[in-house]
Amino acid sequence: MLLKDKVAIVTGAASGIGKEIAFEFARVGAKVVIADLALEQAKACADEIGKEGFQAMAVAMDVTSEAQVDQGVADTVKAYGGVDILISNAGIQIINPVVDLTLDQWNKMLAIHLTGGFLTTRACMREMVKAGKGGSIIYMGSVHSHEASPLKAPYVASKHGLLGLARVVAKEGAKDGIRSNVICPGFVRTPLVDKQIPEQAKELGISEADVVKNVMLKDTVDGEFTTTADVAQTAIFLAGFPSNALTGQSVLVSHGWCMK
Ligand code: NAD
Repeated sequence: MLLKDKVAIVTGAASGIGKEIAFEFARVGAKVVIADLALEQAKACADEIGKEGFQAMAVAMDVTSEAQVDQGVADTVKAYGGVDILISNAGIQIINPVVDLTLDQWNKMLAIHLTGGFLTTRACMREMVKAGKGGSIIYMGSVHSHEASPLKAPYVASKHGLLGLARVVAKEGAKDGIRSNVICPGFVRTPLVDKQIPEQAKELGISEADVVKNVMLKDTVDGEFTTTADVAQTAIFLAGFPSNALTGQSVLVSHGWCMK
């Protein structure tokens, strides 16, 4: 019950990994804020959590919008009295070789993953410092924070960039008891991954089954996908860790795909 009554904002929480994290945090007693692009979807998710008897609220938040991020955090503080945990998770994927990438695609990816990480961190950190109770900031990195794959230049660059952001936040946040870490999952079957299987098959000229077996899971120790539950449990562990001993780190959750 380490997270009992802690207030956790989860971005991109209406789907996939973020949704699982939101549910698991609520189940261990946290007050969860579902932050996602569409208010309707965020509300539906918060309602599902409410029906299980746990606490959640929804905010419409495009993480690339300074105004929406600041407003969403202000609404959280008004409703729940503060912010203890940020899970900066919102993300997309764009599959394209560098030579075909448009500047818009590049900018969009960096805006969501990196600028979104910065804007949500700044807004939450300000509240954490003001409240003087410390906090935990967790970024959703990826094995692609440490490794590269073809067709994913802006994603790999963004996910590498999050390591740098997390390390600076760890150093700046320490005096206020604010910890900052990155979770780096391997492939997880979510809408983000389901969409890229046919895209990669087309780009690489191979079957969808081969994308799964010989591209996505090729370097795991057991040919298994990481699950949303694996990632959520890691987030609970990191969020509840009691000291600055665990800060500025990245934790790989990838069935051994990447060992660092
Ligand atoms: P998903 O597509 O299931 O969910 C992503 C969520 O982010 C959606 O609800 C979407 O609406 C939201 N979102 C997108 N743009 C947004 C924006 N500008 N502002 C706010 N919300 C926005 O994807 P997922 O697989 O659950 O991915 C979640 C995170 O995990 C991403 O950062 C992704 O890069 C990372 N990740 C995923 C995998 C994987 O294999 N699925 C592996 C490693 C890391």
